[in-house]
Amino acid sequence: MIYYVGLLGLIFGSFFNVVGYRYLWDDFWRQSRSYCPFCHQTLSFIELIPIFSYLFQKGRCRTCHQLIHWSYPLIELMTAMSWMLCFKFSSSWAEFLLLTAFFSILIILTAIDCKHFLLPNEWLFILGFWLMFQQLFYQQSLFLGVIRASILFLVAICVYRLMEHKIGAGDIKMLCVLAIGFTFQELIWILFISSAVALIMIGGLLIRKKLEWKSQIPFGPFLAIGTMVVTLFMR
Ligand SMILES: [Zn+2]
Repeated sequence: MIYYVGLLGLIFGSFFNVVGYRYLWDDFWRQSRSYCPFCHQTLSFIELIPIFSYLFQKGRCRTCHQLIHWSYPLIELMTAMSWMLCFKFSSSWAEFLLLTAFFSILIILTAIDCKHFLLPNEWLFILGFWLMFQQLFYQQSLFLGVIRASILFLVAICVYRLMEHKIGAGDIKMLCVLAIGFTFQELIWILFISSAVALIMIGGLLIRKKLEWKSQIPFGPFLAIGTMVVTLFMR
């Protein structure tokens, strides 16, 4: 069963990539079939198979041979793996659905941040609403969650002003939204884990010279990973 969940995760991951690429609602409906962002060639069925099409085409478009963004296979793998973990850690189907939906919103935010370097308010609102729903499901105080998020938001505005906009506003907003469903202690863990993962990955890429010091790096994906780890292993 868990492998079917993984397979379904791969297929949905490939869909989340499309949502991430055309994250604006209007863009999403404009063209129904997936296409190459460079040559606009509509993709064939074979090119739509998650992971495998990327491996077979050696990460390039079959028509124009442009490099496909590295985040595409990563998002597919991330979805499959996280859904399998959700399945393993859930005690009921209701909990499984709730967890996968939560993780899927985090993955869509990751997909958008990887491709556009931003975390749009629309999707942060969806995350917020979902966390409120989750608070009610687990019979935890919604009031407390909202108060927590508001306090953090006020602190964040001050910090943001003091730091003279050196940190991404989207990342701070995402952390504030997460405060609806996570305690301050859990939030510190999320920050700690996401920073640690980011440091290891960026350090590794810098050493292997796959990344330059000046490169722009999205932090949203790391926040998403940190949130998933805390949700699964620390609750
Ligand atoms: Zn192309």
